[in-house]
Amino acid sequence: MKRKLLVLGIVSTAAVLLMAQAQKKKGGDGRWNQPVGYSDTPVIPEQKWKVHDIDRPTPRQITPGALPANPPSDAIVLFDGKNLDQWTFNGKRGAAPAQWKLENGYMQVANSAGDAVTKEKFGDMQLHIEWASPLEILGNSQMRGNSGVIVMSRYEIQVLDSWENPTYADGGAGAIYGQWSPLVNAIKKRGDWNYYDIFWEAPKFEGEKLVKNPYVTVMHNGVLLHHHQKVVAPMAHRVVAPFKEHGSEEPLMLQDHNEPVRYRNIWVRKLRGYDEK
Ligand code: MG
Repeated sequence: MKRKLLVLGIVSTAAVLLMAQAQKKKGGDGRWNQPVGYSDTPVIPEQKWKVHDIDRPTPRQITPGALPANPPSDAIVLFDGKNLDQWTFNGKRGAAPAQWKLENGYMQVANSAGDAVTKEKFGDMQLHIEWASPLEILGNSQMRGNSGVIVMSRYEIQVLDSWENPTYADGGAGAIYGQWSPLVNAIKKRGDWNYYDIFWEAPKFEGEKLVKNPYVTVMHNGVLLHHHQKVVAPMAHRVVAPFKEHGSEEPLMLQDHNEPVRYRNIWVRKLRGYDEK
């Protein structure tokens, strides 16, 4: 039995070597001529594609930014320091229409303009956003540099001056507000620029029923705060709010919490699935 298996092993190894040799034909230009895919291979578990499938769409090519913070070629730039064209302001608290302050390449919560709301809507996305807390200390805990990146106008990744500023764990900088504290506090000292990279999977509804929760991954200054974390409720203060049906894409919102928090270099990539161009 053992000898049979040995012979079988030798024969199959030889067959593989012969096939590999056949595939390694040199072309007329003297270069190795490799197949660019196969159609005689097994199907990959849990996928519809075969191994090295020749019919599988190849990824579209993009040009990355020169630095990690620079937008790649397929990003939608929401704010590059020059204008507020991509934004509206919801003027809550009954204030007259106004805008945030635009100066020195940043936008700053101001003028009781309300939250900054993108004109465009987003579902699954990669978001890069930079922010800085005010130098002037006006209060403590949640009243120190509070703002927020409110994804789909409902789910808040907290922005807070968490530099030497104790507050409840699920309300610090980078918290999924009211539900998950960040894995670490990666804040820079007051007034320095922080950045978030947020990877968002939108929830799914069937009618009014939630059938898939949102999931989020958050990096703060390059440090992992949440890794594909399940979001269990919309943002709310002191309660667990129920999910309410909404669109597959919704505007991104930056919170006006009455403090002069600054933002700059904001860009989004709409995420598509594997094998989608
Ligand atoms: Mg907030």
